[in-house]
Amino acid sequence: VKKKAGKYEKQSQPVKQTAVLGAGIMGGGIAYQSASKGTPILMKDIKDEAIELGLKEARKLFAKQVERKKLTTEQMAEKLTNIRPTLSYGDFGNVDLVVEAVVENPKVKDAVLTEVEGVVSEDTILTSNTSTISINRLAQNLKRPENFCGMHFFNPVHRMPLVEVIRGEKTGDAAVAATVAYTRAMGKTPIVVNDCPGFLVNRVLFPYFGGFSFLMEHGADFQHVDKVMEKFGWPMGPAYLLDVVGLDTAVHANEVMAEGFPDRMAREGKTAIQVMFDNDRLGQKNDKGFYAYE
Ligand code: NAD
Repeated sequence: VKKKAGKYEKQSQPVKQTAVLGAGIMGGGIAYQSASKGTPILMKDIKDEAIELGLKEARKLFAKQVERKKLTTEQMAEKLTNIRPTLSYGDFGNVDLVVEAVVENPKVKDAVLTEVEGVVSEDTILTSNTSTISINRLAQNLKRPENFCGMHFFNPVHRMPLVEVIRGEKTGDAAVAATVAYTRAMGKTPIVVNDCPGFLVNRVLFPYFGGFSFLMEHGADFQHVDKVMEKFGWPMGPAYLLDVVGLDTAVHANEVMAEGFPDRMAREGKTAIQVMFDNDRLGQKNDKGFYAYE
């Protein structure tokens, strides 16, 4: 499923002005990363409170850089001006590339992508940060599917170096090239993959979580497994990683994988991950997962 990003490197027009739709966990992180590396970004949401939260998160991340003496307060103030919060599409006419990062709901994403396609210019590239929805499925309602691809960041955006650039059946080279160029400009590493359930990373990660779940069902101690995987050399074990990802997100992504690869990923009975979810242990987002948080 993998294509080299390198072949697209030299094909793109510079991406000078971008926009992110949704100022949530991911949208806020994307805005920060873009601003930090010098590409101006409009951050649009439908709620004032969401915009405020997104900006607060960006300010916090910049302030940490100041604390570590990597930025001066003047530089921080200047970089923050790269993020322009908005509740309207007023300034979208000269945007080169849009990252859609609204809630993971196909109907909402369809509506938002159709809306934004109506206000941007004909050659603006539209991308989606969806974790689980097929890029071909999202392209169906678009007038210019050749200008659309996936741009899948990982959480937390400022720390995770990889971005999956997902090529749908109708995606054109120009869309991939611009998305690869923007990924690089953000200081991230792009990998170009074809559209399929789980893209690349989750196709590796979810069978691993499945293996971990089996161990739990056979009576293993999750803290022990985490310690062993850390000794093996991974930065964190599967239980802690699941708490970071969110057990609700993991259950949903696993359903998508089971639907896409029923012979390999579908399971009889409840997995340990499902049992955690059923008991409202969602991980760090509600302070209780495999571990308890304060
Ligand atoms: P979130 O709930 O934190 O944020 C979603 C934001 O979208 C909210 O601020 C909401 O107000 C806004 N929104 C809703 N409808 C909108 C509209 N019509 N226009 C503009 N904004 C709108 O969600 P999130 O965790 O940031 O996830 C966003 C996307 O990123 C999802 O597709 C998710 O699958 C994907 N993703 C999430 C993670 C993760 O770990 N959280 C990782 C990779 C990808």
